[in-house]
Amino acid sequence: MLGLMQRHSLSISSLIDFAERQHGDAEIVSRRVEGDLHRTTWAAVARRARQIANGLEAFQLAFSDRVGTIAWNGYRHLELYYGVSASGRVLHTVNPRLHPEQIAWIINHAEDRVVCFETTFLPLVKAIYKECPKVKHWIVLCEADRMPTDDDLPGLISYEEWINSHSDQYRWPEIDEYAASSMCYTSGTTGHPKAVVYSHRSTVLHAYASALPNAFGLSERDSVLPAVPMFHVNSWGLPYSTAIAGCKVVFPGPGLDGKSLYELMESEGVTLAAGVPTVWQGLLEHVKQNGLRFSTLNRTVVGGAACPPAMIQVFQEGFGVEVLHAWGMTELSPIGTVCSLKNNQLNLPPEEQVKLRAKQGRALYGIELEIFDELGKLLPHDGKAYGSLMARGHWVVGEYFRPDDLSSSLVNGWFPTGDVATIDGDGFVQITDRNKDMIKSGGEWISSIEIENIAMAHPSVQMAACIGIKHPKWDERPIICVVKRPGAEVTREELLAFYEGKVSKWQIPDDVVFLDSIPMGATGKMLKTKLREHLINHRLPQT
Ligand code: ADP
Repeated sequence: MLGLMQRHSLSISSLIDFAERQHGDAEIVSRRVEGDLHRTTWAAVARRARQIANGLEAFQLAFSDRVGTIAWNGYRHLELYYGVSASGRVLHTVNPRLHPEQIAWIINHAEDRVVCFETTFLPLVKAIYKECPKVKHWIVLCEADRMPTDDDLPGLISYEEWINSHSDQYRWPEIDEYAASSMCYTSGTTGHPKAVVYSHRSTVLHAYASALPNAFGLSERDSVLPAVPMFHVNSWGLPYSTAIAGCKVVFPGPGLDGKSLYELMESEGVTLAAGVPTVWQGLLEHVKQNGLRFSTLNRTVVGGAACPPAMIQVFQEGFGVEVLHAWGMTELSPIGTVCSLKNNQLNLPPEEQVKLRAKQGRALYGIELEIFDELGKLLPHDGKAYGSLMARGHWVVGEYFRPDDLSSSLVNGWFPTGDVATIDGDGFVQITDRNKDMIKSGGEWISSIEIENIAMAHPSVQMAACIGIKHPKWDERPIICVVKRPGAEVTREELLAFYEGKVSKWQIPDDVVFLDSIPMGATGKMLKTKLREHLINHRLPQT
């Protein structure tokens, strides 16, 4: 017997319709490249999304045609998230921090028909324009009177002029919930980037689950600042989940430095902010140096890379801001786990709580996670056994879009995340490392994250990266590369002594390398490949 309930496809149009109907007056505030603070509402975003849809009809864009965006976090980008996907086209968010050659490759691979870009990225567009002959329309996200004039870029269209020439009356089409809604390329640290194509269904379910109380816990009372980019990993789904929850949204645009973020948080009453650890580090430096406090911020989602326990402690104990450590990846839409403590864990002493919060947390409803050994045997959830972390669920990639090779296909229905993890008896996942970053020493594995977290707890350390260096006897030995805090001093010997009693002797790095900066990738993560190349001839001290 079939259930006798109505059938409605899960669709992105339903999210924006809901936001318009239920919380139309909730504000969307954006710091713009124009330099000002722009204010609008969910209702206006919905109206303008319909104007976009009419604009795309006028371009005669077919169902599933791709529309690229090269843009910061802001209301225009949000309008495109909805106007493009809800009208049946595929939103392709492009990461402007990638190399221009890679960006051109991505736009051609996705076969973007339209590309919308922020004025900041004009030089980038100039570099790729001729390489992307299939793009029929280049739209600049600005008013007509701010349009750049450049003989090398004929036919540019002003976004404001374009949408304002179209009606805001539009009926969203009925769309199969499994149809493509958007796509995002992984960073492609090896070979070409790979594209993940999301569906309406996966996007809506991900939005539902990530908004739940044990995940981000979003509600109408929240003012949410997504510092995590809309041009990569869908800003952790916040453009969608905030629509369901009716949040006020505060977009920082390109202003991701500590001062800009702090001022925006304070002026807009931000209660929840989401970003990678390096961005929060800048924020905390600014707040500490100027003796400031957060007056409204009560929780922060930290993910994209391991959140050092020292940062958790500063947020929690120094400022009363709860840290929700999250883990995910492009292939998981991106949220897989969020670390919110269970009731009984809230009574634990603060240092025990920090240890738990340093874990990446429990899988959301809709995702299953397991760890397997090298032979494919399921490993126990005892918090000790570590193995390849595999995922399956409603918003996990099934296959990549037009892949170069099939090396990363599913294993018995499970997606290999490339991460190594433990899972404890309560289901809390702890990422030990990325497969390729683990350090093998004398037949044992050393977690680079664990070694980095210890260095990060030293008051003189601003950033730390642990990599393995070839060793004739032990295979590899860890070294720790450190950027000191401005004005702070620490010696190699002091830092190495700092490890004593915190890890086993054989896990203590063999050397410390002081650097001015650590190379960062296009998504705000440390580029260990570059660091390894740079230090390939590093000579370890004789022991
Ligand atoms: P890429 O950088 O390849 O594009 P993503 O931006 O999707 O990939 O990042 C996914 C990877 O980031 C994960 O596989 C994991 O290694 C790392 N990561 C994400 N969140 C965390 C976290 N909280 N702790 C540790 N690692 C994390």
